[in-house]
Amino acid sequence: MVSSANLGFPRMGANRELKKLVEAYWAGKVTEQELQQGSKDLRAAHWKLQKDSGIDIIPSNDFSFYDHVLDAAHTFGVIPSKYQHLQSGLESYFAMGRGLQRAGDANVQAVDVPAQEMKKWFDTNYHYIVPEFTSNQQFSLANSKPIDEYLEAKAIGIETRPVILGPISFLLLGKAAKGDSVQPIQLLEKLVPVYEQLLSKLKQAGASDVQLDEPVLILDQPASIKDAFKHAYEVLVKSSPRILVATYFGRLDSNVEFLTQLPIHGIHLDLVRAPEQLDSVLKVLPAHQTLSLGVINGRNIWKANLSKAIETVNKAVQAIGSDRVIVAPSCSMLHTPHSTESETKMDQEILDWLAFSAEKLHELATIKEAVATGPASVQVKLQANADSLARRAASKRIHRQEVKDRVNNISPDQLKRRSPFPERQKLQQEKLKLPKFPTTTVGSFPQTREVRLARSKLKKGEYTPEQYDEFIKGEVQKCVKFQEDANIDVLVHGEFERNDMVEFFGENFEGHVFTQNGWVQSYGSRCVKPPVIFGDVSRSRPITVYWSQYAQSLTKKPMKGMLTGPITCLQWSFVRDDQPRKDTANQLAFAIRDEVVDLEKAGIPVIQIDEPAIREGLPLRRADWDAYLQWAVDAFLLSSTGVHDQTQIHTHMCYSDFNDIFPSIKRMDADVITIENSKSDLKLLNAFEQHSYTNEIGPGVYDIHSPRVPSVQEMQERVAAMLKYLPTGLVWVNPDCGLKTRGWPEVEQALRNLTQVAQSFRAQA
Ligand code: GLN
Ligand code: ZN
Repeated sequence: MVSSANLGFPRMGANRELKKLVEAYWAGKVTEQELQQGSKDLRAAHWKLQKDSGIDIIPSNDFSFYDHVLDAAHTFGVIPSKYQHLQSGLESYFAMGRGLQRAGDANVQAVDVPAQEMKKWFDTNYHYIVPEFTSNQQFSLANSKPIDEYLEAKAIGIETRPVILGPISFLLLGKAAKGDSVQPIQLLEKLVPVYEQLLSKLKQAGASDVQLDEPVLILDQPASIKDAFKHAYEVLVKSSPRILVATYFGRLDSNVEFLTQLPIHGIHLDLVRAPEQLDSVLKVLPAHQTLSLGVINGRNIWKANLSKAIETVNKAVQAIGSDRVIVAPSCSMLHTPHSTESETKMDQEILDWLAFSAEKLHELATIKEAVATGPASVQVKLQANADSLARRAASKRIHRQEVKDRVNNISPDQLKRRSPFPERQKLQQEKLKLPKFPTTTVGSFPQTREVRLARSKLKKGEYTPEQYDEFIKGEVQKCVKFQEDANIDVLVHGEFERNDMVEFFGENFEGHVFTQNGWVQSYGSRCVKPPVIFGDVSRSRPITVYWSQYAQSLTKKPMKGMLTGPITCLQWSFVRDDQPRKDTANQLAFAIRDEVVDLEKAGIPVIQIDEPAIREGLPLRRADWDAYLQWAVDAFLLSSTGVHDQTQIHTHMCYSDFNDIFPSIKRMDADVITIENSKSDLKLLNAFEQHSYTNEIGPGVYDIHSPRVPSVQEMQERVAAMLKYLPTGLVWVNPDCGLKTRGWPEVEQALRNLTQVAQSFRAQA
């Protein structure tokens, strides 16, 4: 009979219990024993919830104190030497995740180790800790977490399918340690025996099945990867429980061929991202393999279309028989919040459209039931689902003809500035009269405790809007005065009125709604609560004009307006699934365009549109890049080109590895681009030179992620290095990102040093 499975459940708990527990442990407020007990309770609650929801195959070892890739590194003994001398396994584990600084005393040595690198998990907003390998890497089964958690579930009467990051993905997601040149995949031969050991122990413990996650299979891979898989899995299956290889976030493409030739028991496909792959897989699936169908979206928060999912599952059942079919979410539910149950304040109409993880479990169970015993057995549930979908589709809250019309009638003129850059540059110079090496900041100034307190007082009603307004005015005054004092050329208002660069705009746009408790893990104990874009997006009133105009009234120097770009708003939200992302991006772009035009009308001469997320939106397969970059850059252009030539448009990106998307960066045609550069080498600047980039550039001259104050000399050296690649007339001097996480004393000192650096270069120019 067809069965239902989950690939992973969110770890944090209904009320972010895990976050609170782990942070309390770090702060020394709970003991290790309390941490262990609390986590055990949480795991038990999540297993029971899945069982009670009717899920047949329940995952274990999906729990993690910090990150599942870090777990794998710890389990397989991939612990760089600098972490090996710490006091306990848990201490080294957290040190690898977040670094550790501890003063020494007579008994213990002082410790000061940095965290390992963190990277985005495919195209999600989850970040994993990058494993570090060396040429003489030794592997060992350093802990028994997967077995312990399997037995822990068994002890409370729940049979589980342990989830383990597969050996190929584990290696490919890692990197060579600094100074080492090993290609991690070369270590496969040494790693496989340790996986073998773990899998055979799981088998001895009673596990009948395991889920080995190999998401790297949906990326472009060299042909040699096929041999790596063949080698590893032919060995592993010998002593292992039945192996299901899980792939997600995309399509397998040609990898299907060798995967279906492996002696594994089954394959999981993401049919939400890549529904078209079902047919081709059904054609080649050998008789000994089962197929797990990812038909419920593990990455988004909308109710599934159950009848459509049932149709898909039935198709597979007809082709290969019900015993070989499993109904599952597209990927682990790690990327959706816990449950809609705690959304007590949300608009009821919209709440009716949503399914978080707990609700998705019911959807899976219903699909399975409908396929196994016929739709009549779950008729009421199916009808309720169909009704809800119909209500959503017809809702007046979603569809607004005037917004759609605008997007459907984008003219070529709306995608370009009136004149080419050299002409704009001249007009802007005449208007702004900036010196050479102009100085500016990326936008935010310190979000101090007082600023956050004022916001929370406003929320709780302890401050009237007028009181809050007065408070923010005071902050803006201080900020503007300081910048004038420090001799900065293009000022900002400081963004004190904003909670978060995406949420702030979402709260002011139509078509958005906010959850109370829709948290998803971003990294370690950090969770984010993305806005939900449910309907057509527009801007009904100016959002930032008030504060920008106020700030401009305090100074004769040019004030820079600060906005978040359409792609960043899109990337960091839960996006509606009833229209292409491109359409939503264009709607956001128009909303921002309206704001840009209003800022210009209000006398703001410089406007920055931040797009830190444009690169992370890149599709996972190269073949899909061009299509994405086409509409993503168009959306940026749509948002930024409504102004006159004299108005200077800036953009900002918090990364610098855009060698491979350079033509798109060029096409954005921002008058000034500020980028993160302080950490990276000068390869990037080389690229600007090579691609003959003509517009102005502000490569960050210091790293704002650390409280350290950079000296005048070190920033001078950076600028001097930049000038080897970039013409004098194009270079701006600025920090590499916003200053909101910093404190005032270090910001003041750093920026005073920074303007001194600019002055010293002007003197030479
Ligand atoms: N303007 C934003 C700030 O300064 C930019 C933040 C970002 O790049 N992530 O905070
Ligand atoms: Zn940034």
